[in-house]
Amino acid sequence: MSDVLVVVEAADGKVAKPTFELLTLARRIGEPVAVVFGDDAAALAPQLAEYGATKTLAVGDPAIAEYLVVPKVDALAGLAGDDTAVLLSSTPENKEIAGRLAVRRGGGLITDAVDVNAGGDGVSTKQSVFAGNWTVNADAGAAPVITVKANSVAPEAAAGSDAVEDAAVTISDAAKGARIVSSEEKPATGRPELTEAAIVVSGGRGTGGNFDEVEAFADALGAAVGASRAAVDSGWYPHNFQVGQTGKTVSPQLYVAAGISGAIQHRAGMQTSKAIVVINKDEEAPIFELADLGIVGDLHTVLPAATEQVKAA
Ligand code: FAD
Repeated sequence: MSDVLVVVEAADGKVAKPTFELLTLARRIGEPVAVVFGDDAAALAPQLAEYGATKTLAVGDPAIAEYLVVPKVDALAGLAGDDTAVLLSSTPENKEIAGRLAVRRGGGLITDAVDVNAGGDGVSTKQSVFAGNWTVNADAGAAPVITVKANSVAPEAAAGSDAVEDAAVTISDAAKGARIVSSEEKPATGRPELTEAAIVVSGGRGTGGNFDEVEAFADALGAAVGASRAAVDSGWYPHNFQVGQTGKTVSPQLYVAAGISGAIQHRAGMQTSKAIVVINKDEEAPIFELADLGIVGDLHTVLPAATEQVKAA
């Protein structure tokens, strides 16, 4: 079986869940080899081994941290053989890396896949497009570059190896064009990462612009906070918390939609949640079609009452 390079996402010494999903998918098409940019490989390798990584390649070249994406493209182009597929999580940076890498290799590129399998003449993929209305099955060739949407597959543990190899990569001078002069870390919310959370409480236009009640309920449940685009576009909540077609895809155990009507573009980002609770004062709101539990009522009454109940439990 051919190697499949899996680009690792991690923070604070912990591998992010979407990487475990990539390893799960990579095992279907070859031998997963994890690639860690930076100097955390030794700490991350045991976690990666639990999901079937056959080894971890450490790419510690300082140019990776110093310059924008092109050094990572150089590194991956050097590490990937002609028959090596490359899997990355669907983040804006990774999509840029994937596009550049596919052009560099003259090979196939699939972005925002929701499934990856062996098939066709190599690797087949599935994408969900037009807000989930169409599914595209593609034959991506033998060695494609694929970005995969978070929460597309349940991570499955498998025995691997925590061996770490220092990868010798050559970063070209041409790659050292755009230097990072400063970067700003997102302020920590103290809540779980939206795409990884087991519970998500989202607010929409029905909040009227005040997310305090949404946040209080989320905190009582240990949940992440999400928002509809109407709320985000109104400047009520930061854009990186938007759930939906042009936001993040979530698939938690429990999704609570408060004051959200259920437009198709919002559903595209949350409809695979395992259980959905809806709070809306309009009993005709389309989001009730998805609800496992629907509460017709004013969220300004329901959320504080539910928060008290959870705290008292
Ligand atoms: P509304 O549709 O205005 O619904 C508000 C709801 O709140 C209503 O159902 C109302 O009954 C209820 N309500 C009001 N007051 C209360 C109260 N006090 N208590 C309880 N309920 C109350 N949208 C997304 O969310 N994510 C996306 O990624 C996204 N991408 C898009 C991409 C494109 C190309 C386009 C065209 C649109 C996209 N949209 C997206 C926008 C989408 O079409 C909707 O406009 C948006 O989801 C509506 O947000 P909302 O449900 O909060 O607001």
